Amino acid sequence: MHTVILKPKHALPFYARHPWVFNGAIDRVEGSPAPGDEVELVASTGQFIARGLYNAASKINVRLYSWDADQPLDAAFFRKKLEAAVRLRHDWLKLNAGPNPAYRVAFSEADGLSGLTVDRYGDYATVQFTALGLASRRAAFGEVLRELLGVKGVYVRTEKGIGQLEGLELHDGLLCGEMPPAEVVIEENGLRFAVNLTEGQKTGYYLDQRDNRAAVAKLAGGRRVLDAFSYSGGFGLYARRAGAAEVECVDASEPALNLARRNAELNGLDGVTFARNDVFGHLDQCVSAGRKFDVIVLDPPKFARNRAALPAAVQGYRKLHQQAFKLLERDGVLVTCCCTGLITPVMLEEIVAAAAAEARRDLQILERRGPAADHPVAASCRESAYLKCLISRVE
Ligand code: SAH
Repeated sequence: MHTVILKPKHALPFYARHPWVFNGAIDRVEGSPAPGDEVELVASTGQFIARGLYNAASKINVRLYSWDADQPLDAAFFRKKLEAAVRLRHDWLKLNAGPNPAYRVAFSEADGLSGLTVDRYGDYATVQFTALGLASRRAAFGEVLRELLGVKGVYVRTEKGIGQLEGLELHDGLLCGEMPPAEVVIEENGLRFAVNLTEGQKTGYYLDQRDNRAAVAKLAGGRRVLDAFSYSGGFGLYARRAGAAEVECVDASEPALNLARRNAELNGLDGVTFARNDVFGHLDQCVSAGRKFDVIVLDPPKFARNRAALPAAVQGYRKLHQQAFKLLERDGVLVTCCCTGLITPVMLEEIVAAAAAEARRDLQILERRGPAADHPVAASCRESAYLKCLISRVE
């Protein structure tokens, strides 16, 4: 067994079960682990802490998976981890109960599987590997997933840049079973959505917003709704089904809008308009045209990937809110979503409060929400908390 020995005074986070061991915490490596090999992490005193997989090419030199000295990280271990993840979604959350179910099956650190994310869409699953150690064991993951989920096929999606970050050669493609068709139709709270597993954004659909869409829909009856950054139309179509008077979906991407149009059709929903536009420009145009909305949903993409980009991200959120306040009816509802992990819940509330004060509007936060429960947060790894959703009333 190879051993990674920590510097003195660097062991605390790992006793607390944080799974990422960065290079700076490591004193030395004994043995010569190859990329992806199993290692033991020990304190400077030599005391065992955890077992993980080694990758010197990544900033995260070791990802930890087990805190049990007697537990090897073999196929049976990872199978148990996947079974536990599936048990949460199936036995507790019952997300597999309906027809054509869609849910996140495993969420990386949040499920003790740092570097593996699995989504299920009906008869197919997608997997994303962001760690070399797990990617090199992918054939076994594919077979276990096919068995546990009873899906016909498992498809690999790769995020741009991940090859470089992990020193990993991996491409999109079928992992096992049958190739998914170009359109997989899933059902979410009784609405149907077309998902393109191989070409769509992320792994094809934003599963994390499931409960937030339902929460917003409850307020949408009879209202004029603007769904900004609409992608495949999730918030807008939920609102229209709930009886919204009008719904406008705005997105910069034509393929996204085509999907949204297709989804309106799949659900027999009319009365939804689709605008291809940059949201910032679109909001300005709506202000110039004197338009008003009762409900505005802002669900932009991640604005910052690192600390250096944070000021610009905060500025982006401020700008969006300044514009939204001009369009929101006197007694309106604003939905602020933020998937930028570096913007904390407190920071987000401060941004919203500052923009409201500047617009001389009173804002009440009605709900402080996060992602649906199939995107849990590991208490030992706060980085697994990323999505915030504030539902506010604006006088
Ligand atoms: N609300 C969606 C998810 C939004 S994802 C849902 O519930 O499924 C973010 C979307 O913002 C993407 O579809 C992307 O195409 C779009 N986007 C990114 N920057 C944009 C911009 N400046 N203007 C308009 N759309 C943008």
